[in-house]
Formats: sequence, structure tokens, C-alpha cells
Amino acid sequence: MTIFVTGGAGYIGTHVILQLIEQGYDVVAADNFANSKPEAIARVKALCGYDFPFYEMDVRDCNRLSDIFTAHHIECVIHLAGLKAVGESISKPLEYYTNNLDSTIEILSAMKRYGIRKFIFSSSATVYSGENDMPLTEDSHTGSCANPYGWSKFMCEQIISDFTHANNGFSAVLLRYFNPIGAHESGKIGEDPQDIPNNLMPFIAQTTVGRLPFLNIYGNDYNTSDGTGVRDYIHVTDLAAGHVSAIKHLDTHDGIGIYNLGTGVGVSVLELVSAFEDASGVGIKKKIAARRPGDLAICYTSTTKAKIELGWEAKKSIRDCCIDTWRWQKNNPHGYET
Ligand code: NAD
Ligand code: UDP
Repeated sequence: MTIFVTGGAGYIGTHVILQLIEQGYDVVAADNFANSKPEAIARVKALCGYDFPFYEMDVRDCNRLSDIFTAHHIECVIHLAGLKAVGESISKPLEYYTNNLDSTIEILSAMKRYGIRKFIFSSSATVYSGENDMPLTEDSHTGSCANPYGWSKFMCEQIISDFTHANNGFSAVLLRYFNPIGAHESGKIGEDPQDIPNNLMPFIAQTTVGRLPFLNIYGNDYNTSDGTGVRDYIHVTDLAAGHVSAIKHLDTHDGIGIYNLGTGVGVSVLELVSAFEDASGVGIKKKIAARRPGDLAICYTSTTKAKIELGWEAKKSIRDCCIDTWRWQKNNPHGYET
């Protein structure tokens, strides 16, 4: 089966492609390098020893999509391309809505023209509203999103759901990722934020190699075990394996499936910092700062539905995540530019 992966040069896309190829799938990938580098694709090709077709393009370009769907017998699309920086989405909402919604609409339109019937979408835990009890299940309330990025994912989910219901034989899986961290165990591919990282793990990693002076801990007065925010951190290779399980699910299921991909375990900021210090052997300079606006105290998922229906569960520990992130960051202190 040939799978078209959009956003293939990104953090999650590189790990997904590698695992698809390891599992015997053929891959065609595309990316416009808005938030990634050509070197990422070169490294994936070197790791898997396979020169898969790659297109540098904006996936909103319907003519280029037609060219690809004519040239390759694509049976499934994994749509990872998207803008994802929460803070930037607040200052540039139209860029986020245009990019994330139009790319999804153009891809679904092209799939319809070419009779491609299987679709997997990168959604996010940010589609859940802040008032839910923990753990979040796929039936928890969505909407009331905290920022335009979250709304763009919420709206894409609605578009995909409407399209699926309108087109018999089309099937889609919406994967709501929790907090992906870690890197491939080779240390050759990993997360390479283009600016100062927003997320905790790349901030810790860049502080540890001296690229950033210290880590701000956003709040130590939450109602949690140590007062710091709690999240569900999932190793990126476990997350990639979730996509392989979703493809298998699409082989036997029509309609729409929604799955949370996380570990089911909440880890605090201080616990993650301490695990990273253990893994790296380096002390991390940190300061307590004010709470970050819009942050929840605690966010983690139930894993039951993904376990039962996809036969998937995360296997790697927080220590694995820290060891692998550290290997990637130590070997590539400036990411793919090193
Ligand atoms: P990333 O920025 O590393 O990868 C996204 C890739 O998409 C980038 O390489 C970028 O250049 C590309 N891209 C963006 N717009 C494009 C366009 N119009 N045409 C072609 N390429 C385009 O991000 P990631 O962490 O790998 O995330 C992948 C997907 O998963 C995104 O849709 C993101 O919203 C979603 N997601 C990520 C997280 C996370 O914490 N990393 C959490 C939940 C959901
Ligand atoms: N966080 C922090 N310092 C940082 C970045 C994040 O203390 O530099 C905290 C943040 O307040 C939250 C947790 O780390 O409690 C995870 O934040 P991240 O942005 O990685 O994920 P999200 O909040 O989007 O789930």
C-alpha cells in the first residue's frame, strides 16, 4: 500500500515515515519546509535506506496534488502538515486558519477526485474544552478552545467528519495527540524548533546544551502533587506506531474513528525536569515564573478506546523519552543545521 504523508519533514512526520517504511509500506511525502529542513528528509532516507518520492510543495496546491495522485497509486493519506505554534496562532490567526483548514479541504477534494478513501488526521488534545474531568476520553467535551490553533483543529475535525458522512466508503481516523516528546533512538532525527521553543521538552533540551540560559517553570501553585502543571507525555515513536495501527483499522472500518494517543499517565514539569537531569547527567538551571495564560493544571487521557479498538498502547517510559531526546540534542545541538 502506498501512503501519502503531508508534513513529512516535520518532527512527527519524519518518525511516521520511518515506521511506515519499516512496516513495509510505500511512502510518498510532501512538505513546504515552512517549519522544517530538507536535511530531515535526507536523514530519514539514510536511516531507512530507501529513496522514497518527496515533493517540496504547499499541500494547498490542488494542481500539484493532482500530479501526485496521477503519478502514484495512493491508497491512504496521513495529513500532518499544519502550523502548530499556539502563541503565533494568537498573533496570526488568519495564517493558521488559512493554512490548516485550506490544506485539509484541498486534500479531501483531491482524494475525492481520485477515489482515495482512507484518511488519517493529526488532531490534538487542544480540541477538548478546559472544563472536562480527567482522564479525557474521546467523548469528553470539545470546543471552547483556548486559541486559534486549537480552533483550527476543531474545525478541521468537523470538516472531515462532514465529508466522511457525505461520502459512502470513505473512512477517516482523527488522532488526538497528547504531548509528543522524545526522538528516534538513532539520535539522527528529532524535534528541531525553528525559534525559541514554546513546548517544555525542547526548552529543557536546549537549556541543557546551553542554547538557552534557564528554564522558566510556569507556575508552582497548581493543585497538583508538586504545584507544577501535569501533562501526558508520549514518545514520538509510540505515537508513530499509533498511525500504523490506524491504517490497519481503516482496512476494516468505514466511517469516522476518533482516538486519543497518550500514555494515560500524568507527569509534572518538575518530574520531567528531574528525569531529564538523570538521563543527561546535567543540572538544569530553572526559575519559577508566573502561570502561562490559558494553561490547564492537569491534562491526561484515558487509553481504553485506543487499546480496545486500535490494539495500540504506548510502551516507552519517561526515562526512554529523556534518554532519546538527550541523544538527539547532544549530537545535534543546533538541530538539523549542525
Ligand atoms: P512540525 O511543524 O514539525 O511539522 C509540520 C510540517 O508541516 C512542517 O514540516 C511544515 O513545514 C509542514 N507544513 C506546514 N504547512 C504546510 C503546507 N501548507 N504545505 C506543506 N507543508 C506544510 O509539527 P509536528 O510536531 O510534526 O506536528 C505534525 C502535526 O501534528 C501538525 O498538524 C500538528 O498540529 C499536530 N500536532 C502536533 C503536536 C505536537 O506537540 N508536536 C501535538 C498535537 C498535534
Ligand atoms: N512549561 C513550562 N515552561 C516552559 C514550557 C512549558 O513550565 O518553558 C509547562 C507548561 O506550563 C505546562 C507544561 O510545561 O504545564 C507543558 O507545556 P507544553 O507547552 O509543552 O504543552 P501544553 O501546555 O501545550 O500541553
